[in-house]
Amino acid sequence: AKDIGKIEPDYVKSFQFESRLLPLTWVVVRIDGCHFHRFSEVHEFEKPNDEQALKLMNSCAVAVLEEFQDIAFAYGVSDEYSFVLKNKSELYKRQSSKIISAIVSFFTSTYVMRWGDFFPHKKLKYSPSFDGRAVCYPTSDILLDYLAWRQVDCHINNQYNTCFWMLVKSGKSKTQAQDYLKGTQTREKNELLSQQFGIEYNSLAVIFRMGSSVFRLKTQEGVTEENGEVLGKQVDAEVVVDYSNIIDRCFWQQHPHILS
Ligand code: ATP
Ligand code: ATP
Ligand code: MG
Ligand code: MG
Ligand code: MG
Ligand code: MG
Repeated sequence: AKDIGKIEPDYVKSFQFESRLLPLTWVVVRIDGCHFHRFSEVHEFEKPNDEQALKLMNSCAVAVLEEFQDIAFAYGVSDEYSFVLKNKSELYKRQSSKIISAIVSFFTSTYVMRWGDFFPHKKLKYSPSFDGRAVCYPTSDILLDYLAWRQVDCHINNQYNTCFWMLVKSGKSKTQAQDYLKGTQTREKNELLSQQFGIEYNSLAVIFRMGSSVFRLKTQEGVTEENGEVLGKQVDAEVVVDYSNIIDRCFWQQHPHILS
């Protein structure tokens, strides 16, 4: 038998490759629910949008920002969330597998822990899972283009899904609804909603149309007391959720600390 005591640790470790994320780039870790089409059916999510399910996702994202100080911003829609790590972050020495697995497992366990807070009358029937990937963006401009792409996707999917489910709820089969919508443009979908169903797209809940953004309110660097004394007290910045248009660069101008 082989003498276990003689195995050189360095030799065994030499097979491990650590892939480090490119230094000084913005890292986006995007997680996505595995087979949530099925998960949402089994758990009878409201269609097209179950608000409680979205709020559970948001609550988990807030927990992630509270746990990982290096995450500056997160954007979520449907069963996905994108977490933005600051460009100067040295979390896990930027080893991608450690970063991704730590975020995705923390998010998933929080999702299970908090399920009952959002669905007090629904039993969680099986263990949900999420996958994760990391992508580096070299400049904040490209990062904002990435986030804009996710928000455009949110809009396109929400508009399609709203039409699709209105057609299905009005008696069409899923295949009929799909065929009906094939090749329709944004304007035609809005007209369908307003003429056939009396729905003005822009009056739908903002959380459905915009997706959710999670970030910290600006840190107070020093509070000046009445006697002029400056207290250097470091208050933990509150993590908030909002439903802003993040494609519009105004949002980023109004919250310059997020990317600084
Ligand atoms: P994959 O494992 O490849 O990600 P998936 O079934 O999760 O497959 P997605 O493209 O991620 O596919 O889509 C997620 C699906 O989950 C949506 O199509 C929708 O059916 C469902 N879903 C997620 N969140 C909600 C929600 N809040 N309300 C209603 N349905 C939802
Ligand atoms: P890191 O986040 O770097 O992994 P860690 O605290 O998890 O930090 P590990 O080297 O992974 O450190 O060690 C796990 C520790 O968890 C052990 O040192 C031990 O204290 C504790 N632990 C894990 N499993 C058990 C167990 N079954 N019984 C008692 N203690 C345990
Ligand atoms: Mg996926
Ligand atoms: Mg999914
Ligand atoms: Mg998805
Ligand atoms: Mg450990």
